[in-house]
Amino acid sequence: MNQSFDAIVIGAGYIGSSVAYHLSKAGLKTAIFDLGSMAAGASRANYGNIQIQDLELQFSVPMIQMARTRFATLEQELDWDLGLRKLGGLLPIENENQWNILAEREKNLQAIGIASELIQANRLQEVEPSIDAAHLLGGLYHADEGQLDPFQLINAYLTRARQSGLQEYYYCPVTGFELDHTNIKSIRTPTGNFSADHIVFCTGAYSNHLGKKLGLKWDVLHYVLGQAMVTEPLPIQLRNHLASASFFEMGADIPKGVLLANMAISQSTHGNLLLGESMYEADHFRTHLPNNSLPWIARSVLKYFPAFKNLRVLRGWSAAIADTRDGLPLFGPVAAIDGLYLATAFRSTVIITPLVGETIAQLITTGTSQLDIQAFLPERNAYVSH
Ligand SMILES: Cc1cc2nc3c(=O)[nH]c(=O)nc-3n(C[C@H](O)[C@H](O)[C@H](O)COP(=O)(O)OP(=O)(O)OC[C@H]3O[C@@H](n4cnc5c(N)ncnc54)[C@H](O)[C@@H]3O)c2cc1C
Repeated sequence: MNQSFDAIVIGAGYIGSSVAYHLSKAGLKTAIFDLGSMAAGASRANYGNIQIQDLELQFSVPMIQMARTRFATLEQELDWDLGLRKLGGLLPIENENQWNILAEREKNLQAIGIASELIQANRLQEVEPSIDAAHLLGGLYHADEGQLDPFQLINAYLTRARQSGLQEYYYCPVTGFELDHTNIKSIRTPTGNFSADHIVFCTGAYSNHLGKKLGLKWDVLHYVLGQAMVTEPLPIQLRNHLASASFFEMGADIPKGVLLANMAISQSTHGNLLLGESMYEADHFRTHLPNNSLPWIARSVLKYFPAFKNLRVLRGWSAAIADTRDGLPLFGPVAAIDGLYLATAFRSTVIITPLVGETIAQLITTGTSQLDIQAFLPERNAYVSH
């Protein structure tokens, strides 16, 4: 049987659920497909932080500034408790090189109106009382970040979309496509073909694997497997999401297979400590944990928070995260194939989630969008069609 839709969304993570919600809300007959459950990819693996700390500064500022504003009314719009709360962001600095990089960043962030403050080591405990500042030079502090519960957000989007007619197909991988010349016509799945005028890839790290079925490959796209672990819950005590400034010393070209560990710690909306993260550039999606990843994470966290040494770890995990060599997302219509859109590799995904769905819905219904996506178009110089 060939069922027909106005739009098909592939991937039910943060991005796909928002896109499905906005398309359904706009009155389009929409279906969503995932090879697993909802949030089967990186969206099941993250801290839920609404962060600006890793904002790409050359092209992404208007996008992030616009995206931030959407959170003021999001719980009201979805009529859902998302566990949304304000949270600071702190990047502890260990050496002079990191200090110099972040001093430059502070200037740039302040110039565009983002609250950012470089603080000396003796003030670190003012903003994060439980940190051990003995070996730190200071930190870059962002007072105005936030956090939500990832599963509540994704569930809220899908529930509200379902109420507007969304059809959901889980454990149903998209295995191929039918084209009419350069027009996308339908997707193939083990349960049959489904046709649509518009198809949106929200497939994160898997996008090149799916693109290959259309003869497409985005060379700018690569992915890393990120590992983290979670402890038993504690009364809320962390005032910030913390990530080591060493993240800013790393280039985009991490040698394949080399495990890197940088401290990244948050407390979830339920009180559990989320400890991370180790990562390595991968060419597979196996989500097993490399033997040395959890001890590395534990060591990197205990360096800053020795008081956590007796906490019980409940579990660890690994997930593939899409990244691009130029730090920009792949976002917008795919030039070579009419009706195909790509929305992936946002450097910080949570903050951008509401705006991506809104923008894709505008592009599909009006052919244009309030957000200027020119710099993010999938065919920018690194796009290759085979
Ligand atoms: C430890 C860790 C902590 C993180 N913390 C944060 C954070 O605090 N804030 C933040 O913004 N980001 C964070 N991230 C990154 C964030 O998790 C990802 O950027 C985000 O989840 C990407 O969402 P997505 O919807 O684009 O992709 P995904 O969630 O990966 O979704 C892609 C979906 O496509 C599906 N799919 C793929 N191929 C097919 C196919 N052929 N057919 C059907 N379905 C298919 C997959 O099953 C998957 O569900 C973190 C990541 C990690 C690992």
